Amino acid sequence: MATKTVLISGAGVAGPTLAHWLVRAGYHPTVVERAAGLRSSGSPVDVRGPAADVARKMGISARLREAATGVTSLRFVNDRGKSVGRVPMDDGGGTGVELTRTDLARILHDASGDDAEYVFQDSVVALAQDAGGVDVTFEHGAPRRFDLVVGADGLHSAVRRLAFGPEPGFVEHMGVYVATMPFDGPVSDRTEIVMYNSPGRAMALHPSRERGIVAFMFRGRAVPGFDHRDAEQHKRLLENAYAGAGWRVPELREHVRVAEDLYFDSVSRVRVPKWSAGRVVLVGDAASCVSLFGDGSTLAMAGAYTLATELVASPHDPALAFRRYEAAHRKLSDPKQRKVPVATALLIPATRAGMAVRNFGTRLLPLVSAAQKLALAKGA
Ligand SMILES: Cc1cc2nc3c(=O)[nH]c(=O)nc-3n(C[C@H](O)[C@H](O)[C@H](O)COP(=O)(O)OP(=O)(O)OC[C@H]3O[C@@H](n4cnc5c(N)ncnc54)[C@H](O)[C@@H]3O)c2cc1C
Repeated sequence: MATKTVLISGAGVAGPTLAHWLVRAGYHPTVVERAAGLRSSGSPVDVRGPAADVARKMGISARLREAATGVTSLRFVNDRGKSVGRVPMDDGGGTGVELTRTDLARILHDASGDDAEYVFQDSVVALAQDAGGVDVTFEHGAPRRFDLVVGADGLHSAVRRLAFGPEPGFVEHMGVYVATMPFDGPVSDRTEIVMYNSPGRAMALHPSRERGIVAFMFRGRAVPGFDHRDAEQHKRLLENAYAGAGWRVPELREHVRVAEDLYFDSVSRVRVPKWSAGRVVLVGDAASCVSLFGDGSTLAMAGAYTLATELVASPHDPALAFRRYEAAHRKLSDPKQRKVPVATALLIPATRAGMAVRNFGTRLLPLVSAAQKLALAKGA
């Protein structure tokens, strides 16, 4: 095997998945993670379809099921908390699992942990590649040389910025902001998400195995000077966006004011024309992101698996492996990017009329599903 040392930037979903498969193939991956540990936003994410297959091959399906949030439906309520619609959650045909991103990252890390090197609280700050490898400078650690570098460092990827160009060239704000934080208050039912809407705004209480999660999603143009790391700016934006909103919003705005672990970011689409540049390649959200609206964690796991498979198939020709990985994985990821406007319209209707249409539509769902079952039974 010609290529042995691989630096993976990011220990989220794609990074540890790739590390697992590279270890199995005899590589020596090093994963560098900017955060102090595996704790992350705690947002609920899904493992379904192709990622459920990857999980099965990794032998982690049982652990994923143990960590599942157990949520089976999404209920919409009005200002006074009265139910106005309900939809069953898609479980990917019975094989999908919803769990928190923190739990998923931990399980994936454990699946590669002992044989991959993990370096926390550090980040890549410079890359210089030649025909034989990539010289990497770190913020804290000593410089090192690797055969390959993989950017699995998410929406605001440092590897993408260093090897491909500045973030604004690839990241597009989709007209929505999202915030999540842990929530220990009461929830009515541990199997359902309860979502409140007012025009252009949504707030959801999402039960989980341990701590619940509260999510805010609201429409808004790109804020000049927006900084995804500026917690005080985020609190101000939420305060303004949810002024006057009903249901349990006033109570939860109080939690926001004192929150120490608020996740807040623009819902963004990442589009990079070519996912590799020489010995550097992107995977997961760094390459192709649709934030919360497009099976991001599923795509991150599936993409990492495909990348590892192609590297193993062409050990002496990483450029060929990268091309094959990109060609195969774009077939899954590109269609998801087109679904963002529909998901936004359903979850965050812009008007009261839009909310009413969405809620009425949920009442038709049982009829649609019954008609589909009838058609299937007749072999249609
Ligand atoms: C609120 C919210 C809800 C979501 N809901 C869903 C859902 O329901 N279903 C779904 O499938 N997906 C969902 N997603 C999307 C999903 O979380 C992402 O698509 C998925 O986590 C992408 O995995 P990744 O490994 O590419 O990136 P990430 O999981 O973002 O991991 C990137 C890692 O890189 C690290 N990092 C960043 N910069 C650096 C650096 N400079 N150096 C080193 N490390 C760095 C980060 O700390 C992080 O650990 C949601 C996302 C959000 C924000």
